[in-house]
Amino acid sequence: MAPEHTPLTVAQAQLKLAAKKLNLDSGIHKILSQPKRSILVSVDIRMDNCTVGVFRGIRVQHWDVRGPFKGGIRFYPNITMDEVTALAMLMTWKCSIADIPYGGAKGGICVDSKKLSKGELERLTRRYVSLIVEYLGPHRDIPAPDMYTDAQTMAWIMDTYSQLKGYSIPECVTGKPVEIGGSEGRTEATGKGVIHCVKEAAANIDLKLKNAEVAIQGFGNVGFHAAQAAHGLGCKVVAVSDSSGGIYCQKGLNPDAVLAHKEKTGSVQNFKGCKNITNEELIEAKCDILIPAALQNQITQKNADKIQARMVAEAANGPTTPEADRILHEKNICLIPDILANCGGVTVSYFEWVQNLTREHWTLEKVNGKLETKMTKAFNDVYSLSQEEESDMRTAALMLGVGRVASAIKTLGLWP
Ligand code: GLU
Repeated sequence: MAPEHTPLTVAQAQLKLAAKKLNLDSGIHKILSQPKRSILVSVDIRMDNCTVGVFRGIRVQHWDVRGPFKGGIRFYPNITMDEVTALAMLMTWKCSIADIPYGGAKGGICVDSKKLSKGELERLTRRYVSLIVEYLGPHRDIPAPDMYTDAQTMAWIMDTYSQLKGYSIPECVTGKPVEIGGSEGRTEATGKGVIHCVKEAAANIDLKLKNAEVAIQGFGNVGFHAAQAAHGLGCKVVAVSDSSGGIYCQKGLNPDAVLAHKEKTGSVQNFKGCKNITNEELIEAKCDILIPAALQNQITQKNADKIQARMVAEAANGPTTPEADRILHEKNICLIPDILANCGGVTVSYFEWVQNLTREHWTLEKVNGKLETKMTKAFNDVYSLSQEEESDMRTAALMLGVGRVASAIKTLGLWP
């Protein structure tokens, strides 16, 4: 990424592009350029060795004109207000594209979660919630999992929020374990949703999915479930990776067997019958479909030209830099942008919230069916707009996402 870019300047440039294309009122553009609320707290906890640990906690609430704030909480070293603000803005567009009644938010704690014990992580999560509790709630702001947080983290959030309010409130957070009100199918929803988009896009570019070669960067929750869904459709998953490196096998991998190997050895590398590769090599690997499902800024002006895939589906948030975006467009690579490709997670979060509010529990079949309907509709809304506007899919996704939010602001008016 060129040094002048930060995640927020990229997000603001994307908004500017959508605003220009939509001929947006300049006042509304100004409103949407900044978050409604940014919260910075010091999360202080007692460490296991009796010293005090001090961690920076952030929650950014972008805009809530279409419904309460919604978005994940990530535990990550060096997380900044700039980055969380950009991610909150992307959540606003993502919820709008998925057409679910939420505004965007994002949270984070600046911590290397791998270095903390389970007890320390629990105290960290609970202390963070206690510091921002007045800004959370089922009709205010509903957190969810993100990088290095999971269903257990969400259970601690639900318990802390409920204890502080005095009664059990499962609808205050999504991505919970099923036994305390979590939805069936939430864990796999983001990865599955990515593959629903891939399926729709493949039909448009005449790519046969049977034996199509898929390379996936990242083998966490999203990467693994995308691999499993692609494998289920008959694709050949030829490469996967995690933070320690990747593997390539032209004959195709079984994602479940790779997961078992990773659980045993701590990494996907050295899996039998495979060649070890680096994360950089995975991006440039011979394949039909490339799925970056790990960190930001993985496809850059340095490697975009070397990508061999015909399709890139952005399972991660922000994996492609603006320069790389242009290169992929020139190479006529079909790019499914993050705010569309990975909206399956927040969509099933919405289903979870609806189930909690109505005290219902849906079957996995029902959740998966509704997810597929929502993803297919979102993909086709964006795709049709890109055809009408003769634009790339990212521009069309932004236009759709920003356009719906802008129209809500216009209808609500500016109070007082
Ligand atoms: N963290 C996920 C995302 O970036 C899910 C958010 C949610 O379910 O609220 O989309």
